[in-house]
Amino acid sequence: MKDVVEEFDLIIVGGGPAGLTAGIYAGRQGMKTIILEMMIGAGSGYMVPLMENYPGFNLISGKDLLEKMRKQAEKRVPIANMEEVKEIIKNDLGHVIVKTSNCTYKTKSVIISTGSRHRRLKVPGEVDFVGRGVCYCATCDGPLYPEKDVVVIGGGNAAVQESIYLKSLGCNVKIIHRRNKLRAEKYLQEKLEESNIPIIWDSIVEQINGDKNVDNVILRNVKTEKTNKLSIDGIFIAIGEEPLSKVAQNAGVEVDDHGYVNTDKFQRTNIPGLYAAGDITGGIKQWVVACAEGAVAAISAYNDTID
Ligand code: NAP
Repeated sequence: MKDVVEEFDLIIVGGGPAGLTAGIYAGRQGMKTIILEMMIGAGSGYMVPLMENYPGFNLISGKDLLEKMRKQAEKRVPIANMEEVKEIIKNDLGHVIVKTSNCTYKTKSVIISTGSRHRRLKVPGEVDFVGRGVCYCATCDGPLYPEKDVVVIGGGNAAVQESIYLKSLGCNVKIIHRRNKLRAEKYLQEKLEESNIPIIWDSIVEQINGDKNVDNVILRNVKTEKTNKLSIDGIFIAIGEEPLSKVAQNAGVEVDDHGYVNTDKFQRTNIPGLYAAGDITGGIKQWVVACAEGAVAAISAYNDTID
């Protein structure tokens, strides 16, 4: 094991909305804190095209809002980049050891805010064509498809939001949804209707085909069982998320059946000194909720360790 390079009061793992808000609060509380980030600009928050429901902003992109939060956090708390956390160990002396790809840190408390990642469709061709027509982020990859035929898979907020954004970029968009009803919020459904984006209902993608790049998908109507081939240039998969909780689980933190970290209302996990905040805790995945959980976690860490 590498030697401990530095000791902290609090280490925040993950620099998304929850982690950055925790950093803003911890810095103000005077806790010696560091935020460890795997890669700058890689979290799912950066991929949100435009938000209309973050208080104080009529319209803002995930990237712009995160950059504002980052600047605010950095006033008092350092953010270390390219620091993938490999292991979190609570030792017998009550300290927590955090091992990253570069360093070993010692701390009194850790807030785990590693978020979630896009769920995979798990159909033949998906893995083969990633980066060659299979996409998970309209903000990142949409600009590659103006005037091209693309489909968005899913019926939730993300699928609707991404398809409206793709249409605004000039893509010929269709939504493919496995049921005959969307689960996206009403306001987004109304915007979708206004945008005249067609929806292929009751259908699932069975296979993604192509040569160099994606060329078509095989669809199956789950009611009629009929299959058909749809020619496309790109497929955007927006079917929900799964938690990035492996490090937390390896540390002994309790999770639910889907891998989301269980916390109490103070964001404490089952292990004293370890807290969790944001999408990794499941529940309502909204920016304001993630920020609120980050604030609560930082205040709890302070209250639990103050002499
Ligand atoms: P979501 O709300 O869980 O919706 C996932 C969608 O994908 C559902 O329509 C689901 O179908 C479909 N789906 C799931 N697995 C599938 C599969 N294997 N094959 C085909 N379709 C599948 O996920 P999300 O839209 O990514 O949103 C994730 C979270 O972020 C939610 O809590 C959401 O509210 C939040 N979010 C909020 C906003 C916003 O506030 N504007 C924007 C984006 C995301 P069924 O409907 O049949 O289950």
